Amino acid sequence: ARRDPHQPEFQQAVREVMESLWPFLDQNPQYRRQGLLERLVEPERLLQFRVAWLDDRGQTRVNRAWRVQHSAAIGPCKGGMRFHPSVNASILKFLAFEQTFKNALTTLPMGGAKGGSDFDPKGKSETEVMRFCQALMFELYRHIGADTDVPAGDIGVGAREVGYMAGMMKKLSNQAACVFTGKGLAYGGSLMRPEATGFGLIYFVEQMLHYARRETHGARVLISGAGNVAQFAAIKAMERGGRVLTLSDSGGTLYARDGFDEDALAEVCTLKNVRRGRLSELAGDARFEYLEGRSPWHIPAEIALPCATQNELDGNDARTLVHNGAVCVAEGANMPSTLEAVEVFQQAGILYAPGKASNAGGVATSGLEMSQNALRLSWTHAEVDARLHAIMMEIHALCVRHGTRADRSINYVQGANVAGFVKVADAMLAQGVC
Ligand code: NDP
Repeated sequence: ARRDPHQPEFQQAVREVMESLWPFLDQNPQYRRQGLLERLVEPERLLQFRVAWLDDRGQTRVNRAWRVQHSAAIGPCKGGMRFHPSVNASILKFLAFEQTFKNALTTLPMGGAKGGSDFDPKGKSETEVMRFCQALMFELYRHIGADTDVPAGDIGVGAREVGYMAGMMKKLSNQAACVFTGKGLAYGGSLMRPEATGFGLIYFVEQMLHYARRETHGARVLISGAGNVAQFAAIKAMERGGRVLTLSDSGGTLYARDGFDEDALAEVCTLKNVRRGRLSELAGDARFEYLEGRSPWHIPAEIALPCATQNELDGNDARTLVHNGAVCVAEGANMPSTLEAVEVFQQAGILYAPGKASNAGGVATSGLEMSQNALRLSWTHAEVDARLHAIMMEIHALCVRHGTRADRSINYVQGANVAGFVKVADAMLAQGVC
């Protein structure tokens, strides 16, 4: 906190991890050697750079961009790029720190990174988005590589933006490998990558409920967000018999009292992915209630899946969820629950999974994309899905191994943090002080 006084999100992420590691560190003092903790909370490299680009009127625009390479201890740095006006160094440092543990949990050899810009793709033309992506790559290309740092998408960076950045990477590096994951199928992408985070989240929730001997069929599900993660979480939850009651965006919540059906969900996906519109456009539709400026958390349901952004679910939301009978909260987004909300879930004894465990399916499938690229092979849909499912089961097993309490319930925060930490820490100790 003394070193980074103006970085609240980064401090929050570090505190959450360190608090849950403390009992483990007390019992395993070997992990305090070589300044390990001090090194682990300091990114290996943080790049900040200017992105100057021309808008459609020929005016010069200037944005700020970053890449945080947090740790390459177990493999090349790996993590998404985020384009959103709220992006700053604190948010990217927290995301890169979390990514380091998450990537370790996937069982694949990937270090942690994150990057992005305060550029807002909303309201920009196709050509403006392309020019911005190309301008950003003029700087970023020299810092990334298949064995150095492998970026991907995140909020505001989908297939379109990855395509423009990967295309420029190819041009500037004169190499066929575009380095990015989340690529289109036509140029080295993996089947199932778009679905992976949302599907993986539901596979993880099934494991949690199964392990706790809870029924899943017919459960009411609240989902926030209406982007990549939220959409595929909704599709898989419905496929598995859940009743999805909500989706949301930064304007408000779309509430389907009897649950979304396939047609309604397809309409939302078209609205968001093709027309890039707002959920408020469906406000007059008789199938929904549109709750302007509200999040979904006041609606009674058994399962809550925050899939939008950090700190979108606070202590009061958590108390309301618990009061309304929620049994399981699993994070699709990164750090969507505040520290107070997590405390409320833990004290109430409901099942709670932090994003680094429950949303790791996306980066795991990115790891599978890297493997396919290296092999110059493409696996089938079923093959990638089976590997994703197996990885989510393995992450759940790691949480059980490291997070089982005396009463046999699972502390998923502790389980995920300790399992991720041990892998990274062992690699750092073996490689010496560097
Ligand atoms: P998208 O950009 O596809 O969607 C983000 C959604 O969240 C949109 O509906 C957006 O609303 C909403 N949102 C964004 N910011 C806010 C805000 N401040 N308040 C309310 N709603 C907001 O992103 P993704 O679905 O890819 O990512 C969502 C979360 O999941 C992020 O935390 C990301 O880091 C995490 N994640 C994503 C992975 C992936 O594979 N995509 C992998 C692992 C984690 P609007 O449309 O109004 O902007």
